[in-house]
Formats: sequence, C-alpha cells, structure tokens
Amino acid sequence: MADLGIPQNTIAILQKYNFNIQKKYGQNFLIDPTVLERIVDAAEISKEDCVLEIGPGLGTLTQYLAERAGNVAAVEIDKKLMPILQETLSAYENVTLINADILKLDIFRLAEEMNGGRPFKVVANLPYYITTPIIMWLLESRAPVKTVTVMVQKEVADRMQVGPGTKDYGALSLAVQYYARPEIVANVPPNCFIPRPNVGSAVIRLTEYETPPVQVADERRMFALIRAAFNQRRKTLVNALCNAPALDITKEQAAAALERMGLSPTIRGEALTLEQFAGLSKELP
Ligand code: SAM
Repeated sequence: MADLGIPQNTIAILQKYNFNIQKKYGQNFLIDPTVLERIVDAAEISKEDCVLEIGPGLGTLTQYLAERAGNVAAVEIDKKLMPILQETLSAYENVTLINADILKLDIFRLAEEMNGGRPFKVVANLPYYITTPIIMWLLESRAPVKTVTVMVQKEVADRMQVGPGTKDYGALSLAVQYYARPEIVANVPPNCFIPRPNVGSAVIRLTEYETPPVQVADERRMFALIRAAFNQRRKTLVNALCNAPALDITKEQAAAALERMGLSPTIRGEALTLEQFAGLSKELP
C-alpha cells in the first residue's frame, strides 16, 4: 500500500472513499513523512514493543509504526474509517484494528491479550478535543503504559511541561509531572496536516515514573488541593483552599500550614512546586 505520509496518497484515498472528514472527532490527518518518522523515532519503537495507537484515522502513522513495532493495536472511534483502514493496512499482519472509544476501552485486558500484560508504548496524533481526558485517563488509571508519545496542541504540550511562575502552569502540569517526565520533542506547523488545524502542534513524550518523584499519603487529597488552588488562581492560596467546600479547610488551618512550611500567607497556588503541594497535603487535615 502507498505511503500515506505523501500528501497525494492521502488525497487519493479520501477521494476514493468519498470520505467526509469529521471535525467532531478531531480529524486532522498527518501528511509529512519527516514528522511521522520523528514521532516513531521519539517513541523509540522496536520489534520488542507492542504499541497502542489512539485514533489511526486513515492509517498513516499506523503504517510507520507497523514497520518498526512487534505489533500494534489501533483504536479508532469512527466506524466509517474501518473499510479504509482495512485497505491501507492490508500489508501488515501485526496490526489489530479495534473500533471503539478509547476512553471506554479496558486497557488492562487489551494488554493481557496483546502483550501478556506487559506495558504498551502509546503513540498517537491525538484528537485535540479530548487530549486532556485521554492523557489523564492513561496516567490516573495506572494503565500498563511505559511511554506516551503524542501529537497535541502546542499550548497543551507547554502546559504539561512548565513549572511554577508561568501562565501555562496549572493542574495539568502538576498531574502530568507527578506521573511522568515530559519532554517536547518537536514543534509541528499546521501545514503538516489535512485539514490544517488552526493551532500549532507539538510532539510530547511522557516517560512514566516507576515511583512518583514526591511521596504523599493520599494522592487524591493532594490533587483536590491542586484543583482548588487553580480553580481560583487569582485568589491567594489560603482563600482558594478555604473557599472550596469539598475540602473542609478553615482559613486558620490553611494559614497555619503555610506558616509551618515557611511560605508567605499571601502566596498564590501558581507559585507552588509539586514538592510544595505534596508538603501542603501533609500539613493540612
Ligand atoms: N492518526 C491519524 C493521523 O495521524 O493522520 C489520525 C489522527 S486525527 C488527529 C485523530 C483520530 O482520532 C481521528 O481518526 C478520530 O476519528 C480519532 N478519534 C477521535 N476520538 C476518538 C476516541 N474517543 N477514541 C478513539 N479514536 C478517536
């Protein structure tokens, strides 16, 4: 089958099937062989690896993955793409196509079936409308995943990678950095896709930690504090915490905890590092 990284081949397949590109599914198909190679290189795919691809679309990235991986499970929500994928991937015996919503998939069972329970490498050009839910689902469920190498909106990649003191820093940064080490490996302009997205894109690789970089007694409590801090990011941390009813923290308790940590009583949540949020979760009731 022709390399779909070549724009003419992608256009030909869209025309052959008279395929209507679905905006609601975030369909922006990659048409740049250099970018496709870059993604597969960054994911360090070898024949030892079982890859989980989210949203194969026409099968473009899947072709590149299938060349290098042991096997590939490709999960696509749009059933109208199934006949196209059967054609574009017909040369590859190591690809399993699954017509499903990734967020409803039993990834533990799939890892058992496809890889004897060993972790996947996740690789994808993600649908941008659900990037954050997909990343959080992969990380929080402690899915069997070694690395996640994905194309996302540039701004979302920045949010995952930054530390305190920048406008992009927030709950997503802290959640990602608790579970994984993020590295932006490429910036990708809109003209590498059909149709062109109206935002810049970036490829980010998340390497999951075996043990998180900070120790906390109760992860859920720490993330509840983080969410409260960034839900009202213009307020001081003390006010943001005591205004969050679900936390049940008084102003006095919040102020005393900050004092014990040697932090200013007027500090905002956006100034705290992951270590400091972990410390705060120990200091608060
Ligand atoms: N991998 C292809 C490429 O690079 O050309 C297509 C990438 S396109 C940005 C995102 C793909 O994800 C689309 O094919 C879309 O139909 C699929 N998709 C959207 N939501 C999904 C979901 N919840 N589960 C699985 N696939 C989904």
